[in-house]
Amino acid sequence: MERVIVVGGGLAGVRAVEALRAREYTGALTLVCAEEVLPYDRPPLSKAVLTGDSDDTTVDAAWDALDCDVRFGVTATGLRADERVLETTAGDLTYDGLVIATGADPIRLPGPGPQHVIRTMKDALELRPLLVSGARVVVVGAGWIGAEVATSAAKLGCRVTVLEAAETPVAVALGTELGALTVPWYAEAGVELRCGVKVASIEDGGVALVGGEFLDADAVVVGVGVRPALGWLGDALELDPRVGGIVVDGSLRTSRPEIVAVGDCAAWWSGRYERRMRVEHWDVALNAPEVAVAALLGDAEAVYDEAPYFWSEQFGRMVQFAGHQAGAEKMIFRGDPSERKWAVCWVLGDRLEAILTVDKPRDLVQARRIIGQGTPIDVTKLADPAVAIRNA
Ligand code: FAD
Repeated sequence: MERVIVVGGGLAGVRAVEALRAREYTGALTLVCAEEVLPYDRPPLSKAVLTGDSDDTTVDAAWDALDCDVRFGVTATGLRADERVLETTAGDLTYDGLVIATGADPIRLPGPGPQHVIRTMKDALELRPLLVSGARVVVVGAGWIGAEVATSAAKLGCRVTVLEAAETPVAVALGTELGALTVPWYAEAGVELRCGVKVASIEDGGVALVGGEFLDADAVVVGVGVRPALGWLGDALELDPRVGGIVVDGSLRTSRPEIVAVGDCAAWWSGRYERRMRVEHWDVALNAPEVAVAALLGDAEAVYDEAPYFWSEQFGRMVQFAGHQAGAEKMIFRGDPSERKWAVCWVLGDRLEAILTVDKPRDLVQARRIIGQGTPIDVTKLADPAVAIRNA
């Protein structure tokens, strides 16, 4: 292989570049980077960047040693896979290996009024000056990002209202029983939370709700999810109709061995869960590129089969999750969820399938190891928070 292109300059993109050189790929290497800046971490955007505690989240990569031609401000516009040509705003680029890492784009709501999303550093820096003490901020969506934006805005003294269409926050990810446990966190931070509310449109000066009510706002932030950024691909590769994302196998290979896909835009086959997964979290973008690159360079043993992991910092709490709870038969609480620190485990027989922890990082670390290894445990011990998970 002599000419590899990585398309998408996010975390997955830079990790792919690093992995290629670490595997002693010595050919030409190009990173097609729609943004005008080097790859940066996105998790701080809704946290420290919004609160003004950070301005620079650039990924610390040794660019000189990587010998990579970074094409800033260049966007992929099409793929002629049979010819091995990537079409871009700067012309056609030929490749013999292609890594697709174009991530995801935030969903926007209808209406002519100004709406903010938080996906890029530019988005965060545009919103930040509006988050001044006393400003009326409406956040649409009480998912992970919405809760983090509300946390930051409340910390800056804004009057924050969060609108959520579901019965509770984080209902899609965790279900309404657990979502309900986060409701008091909003009130405690002085944030008004309104669930079961549908937004009709974003208008000048605020948000119109279905039913006619209008909420005045100095800033409206929309955090209602993302879609894989794959419009540019057309029908050049198969996309998964259920989870979205490019269909890739357990090695992150597409139907073409010279093309791999990774990060938020990839829907990979998980042998562990026997289903296709697309996980929009930092840990996947950090770790999966090594496997994708190994597969691209011909390593037949390369497999990505990690249990998902993510964290969210909201209302002064560190919330962490590991595993996949879809196949679990019951939930076991560790500690009282009305208290400050607690956890909940999902189990199936004698297996720990997943864990959610609130300010209990030790539980998370121990459980993550057990989930990853699939070690059988005595699940009855999980209910006692005094027993370390590693001793269950
Ligand atoms: P991206 O980071 O989206 O990078 C893709 C890049 O490709 C972008 O630079 C994009 O401009 C570029 N691109 C898109 N289309 C094209 C094209 N056609 N041509 C060229 N380039 C293109 N995860 C956690 O686990 N914990 C957290 O606390 C957390 N917080 C987050 C907070 C925010 C505000 C956001 C936005 C995300 C957060 N995440 C968090 C998720 C995590 O950041 C993402 O999963 C991760 O960034 C995905 O990396 P990626 O490289 O796949 O995609």
